[in-house]
Amino acid sequence: MTFEVKILGSNSAVAQHGRHPTSQLVNIHDKYFLVDCGEGTQMRMNDFKVKRFKINHIFISHLHGDHYYGLIGVITTFQLLQRLEPLTIYGPPLLEEIIQLQLKAGGTQLNYPLLFVKTQDNHQELLFSDADVEIHSFPLQHRIPTTGFLFVEKSTQRRINGEKTKGLTLLPKDFIDLKEGRDVTLSDGSFFKNDSLTLPPYPPRRYAFCSDTKFLPELRSIIDGVDLLYHEATFMNDAEKRANDTYHSTTGQAAILAEMAGVKHLIVGHFSSKYIELNFLLEEVRQIFPNSDLAIEGATFKVLR
Ligand SMILES: [Zn+2]
Repeated sequence: MTFEVKILGSNSAVAQHGRHPTSQLVNIHDKYFLVDCGEGTQMRMNDFKVKRFKINHIFISHLHGDHYYGLIGVITTFQLLQRLEPLTIYGPPLLEEIIQLQLKAGGTQLNYPLLFVKTQDNHQELLFSDADVEIHSFPLQHRIPTTGFLFVEKSTQRRINGEKTKGLTLLPKDFIDLKEGRDVTLSDGSFFKNDSLTLPPYPPRRYAFCSDTKFLPELRSIIDGVDLLYHEATFMNDAEKRANDTYHSTTGQAAILAEMAGVKHLIVGHFSSKYIELNFLLEEVRQIFPNSDLAIEGATFKVLR
């Protein structure tokens, strides 16, 4: 079952050095979730051959332009391509007003339902839940209301124990019963307790997206032990004062938080345009948290079992 994050854009405000503003595609069990939608996101979808019609939910962390100026483009392109499926946007309260005004000004009447869910920046919330995934928002501290997002895989099915089932004749319904935790009576009349043929479910995989924020140690409890953490690292360590003044983080701060929270893998992004060469940022991050990577556009980070 897929659990991966594809980077579509990872630069901060000014698009520079061939880099683009923030956007990511999260794929969980072949369900697509777009996270932030900076200018140019739909072009990056073309570049990376993203099946855009599979996106039914878009999450916007905050209303600085480099995180949502691409949204109206995506929405209206869906209209031009005759989308009919509903599209749900999760974001700060003002976002609906902004988008509706843009549509109204352009005389655009959508043929598909466009739904909005307002996020809150003062408490954690469950925004989305289906059979495969739960998506929560949590407050960050930036210059305007900003949230991060936590993706939690739902993994309730037990695993078939191949060694124990070897030589048994299992029908498709037996597999379903076993995976769902029920005991089985096979076609030859033999009875098996569920746990004699199965193993416990895999632990659910988790991905945390920490958009623009100042260093926030209290995030530790929310992102504790996640498989994959994206954290902004707009500046290098020598620009800590500028990071503090602009409510951003440094490479070292992102790494310290990853270490404090015991995450398994860190990716950093939202690079300031003042940096042409990004490997210096990566070196600083890895000095504190070795299992780190840069959120390079086009890269896909898979969380494997
Ligand atoms: Zn921002």
